[in-house]
Amino acid sequence: MRLSDLLPGQKGIIVKVRGRGYFRKRIMEMGFVYGQEVETIVKAPLQDPTQYKVMDYEVSLRESEAELIEVVTEGEINIYSQERHHHFDKVYDGYRRSFYHSLVTDSDKLLKIASEQRHIINVLLVGNPNSGKTSLFNVAAGKHERVGNYSGVTVNAKEGRIKYKDYIFNLVDLPGTYSLSTCSPEEVCVRKQIFESPPDVIINVVAASNLKRNLYLTTQLIDIDASMVIALNMYDELKKSGDIFDHEHLAEMIGCPIVPTVARLGRGIKELFDKVIEIYEGKSSIARHIHINYGTEIETEIQHIKDVICKEDILGRDISRRYLSIQLLEYDKIAEMTIQHSPNINEILAERDIRAQYIENDFRENTETVFANARYGFIRGALKETYQKGKNDRLRLTHLIDRIVMHKFWSYPIFFMLMFIMFECTFSFGRYPMKWIEWIINRMDEYVEIYMMDGALKELLVNGIIGGVGNVILFLPNIIILYLFISLMEDTGYMARAAFIMDKLMHKIGLHGKSFIPLVMGFGCNVPAIMNTRVIEGYSTRLITMLINPLISCSARLPIYILLIGAFSRNYGGLILFLLYVTGILLVVLMSLLFKKFLIKDENLPFVMELPPYRLPTWNAIRRHVWSRISQYLRKMGGIILIAAIVIWFLEYYPQNEKRNQYYERKITKLVLQAGSEEQISYIRMQQNEEQKRNSFIGCIGCFIEPLVRPLGFDWKIATCLISGIPAKEIIISTLGILYTNAKNGNSSLKQCLQMELDTNGNPVFSPSKTLSLLFFVLLYFPCIATIASIKNESGKWEWALFAVGYTTLLAWIISFVIYRVSSLF
Ligand code: GDP
Ligand code: MG
Repeated sequence: MRLSDLLPGQKGIIVKVRGRGYFRKRIMEMGFVYGQEVETIVKAPLQDPTQYKVMDYEVSLRESEAELIEVVTEGEINIYSQERHHHFDKVYDGYRRSFYHSLVTDSDKLLKIASEQRHIINVLLVGNPNSGKTSLFNVAAGKHERVGNYSGVTVNAKEGRIKYKDYIFNLVDLPGTYSLSTCSPEEVCVRKQIFESPPDVIINVVAASNLKRNLYLTTQLIDIDASMVIALNMYDELKKSGDIFDHEHLAEMIGCPIVPTVARLGRGIKELFDKVIEIYEGKSSIARHIHINYGTEIETEIQHIKDVICKEDILGRDISRRYLSIQLLEYDKIAEMTIQHSPNINEILAERDIRAQYIENDFRENTETVFANARYGFIRGALKETYQKGKNDRLRLTHLIDRIVMHKFWSYPIFFMLMFIMFECTFSFGRYPMKWIEWIINRMDEYVEIYMMDGALKELLVNGIIGGVGNVILFLPNIIILYLFISLMEDTGYMARAAFIMDKLMHKIGLHGKSFIPLVMGFGCNVPAIMNTRVIEGYSTRLITMLINPLISCSARLPIYILLIGAFSRNYGGLILFLLYVTGILLVVLMSLLFKKFLIKDENLPFVMELPPYRLPTWNAIRRHVWSRISQYLRKMGGIILIAAIVIWFLEYYPQNEKRNQYYERKITKLVLQAGSEEQISYIRMQQNEEQKRNSFIGCIGCFIEPLVRPLGFDWKIATCLISGIPAKEIIISTLGILYTNAKNGNSSLKQCLQMELDTNGNPVFSPSKTLSLLFFVLLYFPCIATIASIKNESGKWEWALFAVGYTTLLAWIISFVIYRVSSLF
């Protein structure tokens, strides 16, 4: 807790002193240092200031100062040991608990807790997009967050915890940002993190392959006067290019340790954290606070504003006054908000206006540009002394590839070709491993058939669980292949190119090149894709991108396509699959044109997106991607799909009608006595089965909805499947498995059962026209629940989520209707 929260008479032990510069120094000089006991003596009538006893003498502190001091109190001992149990590493926890028992006095315990808390270091990863922050976070904290070779992969802060040496690091990975001004959501997010929950140390991740631009952010962090270590990441690329960079010299110049790292191979991480500890403990020999020199004219103006700010004591307590002055000169909104409660705000703003005017007159440019130029000037100067460009053209290969894949005419055919290859491979290569999984499932099925007693439980196992979940697991290989392709596109850097070549097209339909990435991500899963729309700056554009995302066919729909396409077409599987996806894309175009026209006002955003150099993905990255997919898929199978399958089986199996069952049993007995053939018996079994299903709970639901979808060629069973797919699309397969496999077909696969299914007139249910109609309906209708929830979250309104539900389902109905009618003609 904070020292300011301590009541009179309470004692505490000091853990950390926050704040910065002069304030921190003054407080610490007065004896408020780590491990020291303090006691609150008395609070002044208006709570401010408060008298404290420290080192046997009494000191009074203002509330604002006491807030900067973190303490632990006796009361916290118990809460602490209970609460933290859940949070801490097990090893650490056991060690701590045994320690407590051996402690004798309360103040011993307090000191111990204080030392423990002191050993927690809060670290923030700050850096440009695509500099390798998430890669670093992943290797350091053993996490599996998304990494990709383009900007905007990470959209929200992620936390991880590491134990290293005697310390625990709370590591926070942030979205990338080019600067700390407040234009884009990412910049605001990063700034908020830095100022609202100030870290103990910032790791500034700098891409060695692009020093000049990356160091721009560093100059701003220097202005803030943050405790900072620079991770000079992608050091391998720098080495390879033959560039010579004297980073040690630069570190001395800017007063901040620089550690070369190769995050994706895990190199240099230990050294990096050693430096973090040094900085935290104040033992770094290099660290010192420097000022970026903006030149005499600007410096004079900064000083003038600083003088006015200094009149107000509280300003500058947790934010550097120099930085505040600079930000004010740059007309930064958040800086203006920082001073809004200050009594002399008007004086400060008036001074700012005068000073900014001087600068603008001097330089004939607005202050923001002047500062940006000055920062780049500083970087140029620093690099001139420390950096020498090598002879190898690192980007040669990248340029060569770009000349082809971003060619005026060839870029689009190449893009579509790649997409086609992706779907063809997904469809055809998936078949083989699928057979193996099918074999295993069949063996399980047989085993249960043979060794279990007849009855409801057996039915549940065979039809509900094995039929429901097994049939979905079959498609795991296809999904892995699809993801493999997507992750290859992301990791190599092609995705950024795709966004780039699509920007023009996207603009035509009212979107933005950046909208393209969430759309491609949607092929995997719509939920992260919708979260990724955060990289888009304008709200309207972002909203349209969210609303059309469900039209992009996600991987959960893939199994249904593969099953249905496989059931009626042997040769053109990949092509039909590709067409389905293309239809989705065309509808995306159409719908966004409509939305732009009728729903949402115009916005014109610049396209600023970096094209990173191509990078070969590492095996590790691929493995991580694929593995996280597999585990996610299996978890989904063990969770929602399993539950849904059981529920659907239950609804299908009950109510049982004893009279009807007896009637059929008698019929069969009669047949057996008359020596009827196997065929005849199983025909009767099938009749019984059908009648059971039609009269079950689920049959009633299906028959109730059937009229709505009859014009699309669907019967009650398909209607039921469609309803069941609302929570998650895979459930459609489970339901198909439960509804369409029956005794007659014995051991045939679900695909064969579908092919054999006949309607009352003896025609196949899954005729090409009906199947096509169904395929398109599944493509378009009702986004799954998770997608709806994320539209609601990201857009901030339920209305938009409901709108997405409504328009997609309506669209699905219309398109399927047309397809069914037209294809029935042939
Ligand atoms: P973030 O946007 O800063 O989170 O960056 P990511 O962690 O997503 O990484 C961006 C890209 O750089 C990915 O393709 C990584 O594989 C690659 N990358 C990360 N660290 C290194 C490194 O040290 N060397 C090289 N060559 N590539 C790296
Ligand atoms: Mg990231």
